[in-house]
Amino acid sequence: MPRALALSPHLDDAAFSCGGTLAALAQAGWEVTIATAFTRSVSNPSGFALACQLDKGLPAEVDYMALRRAEDTEACARLGAQPLWLDFPEAPHRGYADARALFGPPQEADAILPPLSHAVAALMANPPDLLLASQAIGGHVDHVRLVEAVQAVLPAALPVLWWTDFPYSARPLRESVQPFAAAMEAWPERSIPGDAAARLAACAAYATQLGFQFGGEDGLRRALEAAGPAERFRERGAMPPLRVAA
Ligand SMILES: [Zn+2]
Repeated sequence: MPRALALSPHLDDAAFSCGGTLAALAQAGWEVTIATAFTRSVSNPSGFALACQLDKGLPAEVDYMALRRAEDTEACARLGAQPLWLDFPEAPHRGYADARALFGPPQEADAILPPLSHAVAALMANPPDLLLASQAIGGHVDHVRLVEAVQAVLPAALPVLWWTDFPYSARPLRESVQPFAAAMEAWPERSIPGDAAARLAACAAYATQLGFQFGGEDGLRRALEAAGPAERFRERGAMPPLRVAA
């Protein structure tokens, strides 16, 4: 059974950006794993990290990331994928103090890259047949750090589908910056008509994220419809037969 590994920055990015493709791969007989990098529960959050939780209506004593991991379990089930959680803290727990910092350049004090690269390398030690990864469109620093980690340890022969980060890709230009455009433009574009219904169902499982990202589940549905069923990638290396509709 061929193996596909999606490397998601946050608990929702893979489903949001290429859930239809992941579901189609699973239906075509692939073993699909979604490994999410930034999933650590941090007790007694404070400052911006706490604000990110409170503004979603979740009191301070709620384990926000435990809630999100449970959402991920359900989303993966709806895609036919297996979840895998790397235990790294999100940017608000690493010194990024406000929303602007999240979308600014990586900070010197942010020492996540070496351990993150190490963890990605460990996943590559038994290489999948296909890697799916973020292009960091939008420029969120967690996405940027994960692309840097992937680039640092990526085996030369491993085929990659670099996904178009949704919903950032659907937003105005200033919010859809492409920090790795120069590297990505070296690879041909590929469009895959995924299973749109499975993508919507999986995305809807991330209930804590729907309000601020889309204004609720109806907004999610409208945004996905507006984006269309085709999921766009940059394709690196010699692709194995995907066995999904071209
Ligand atoms: Zn994200």
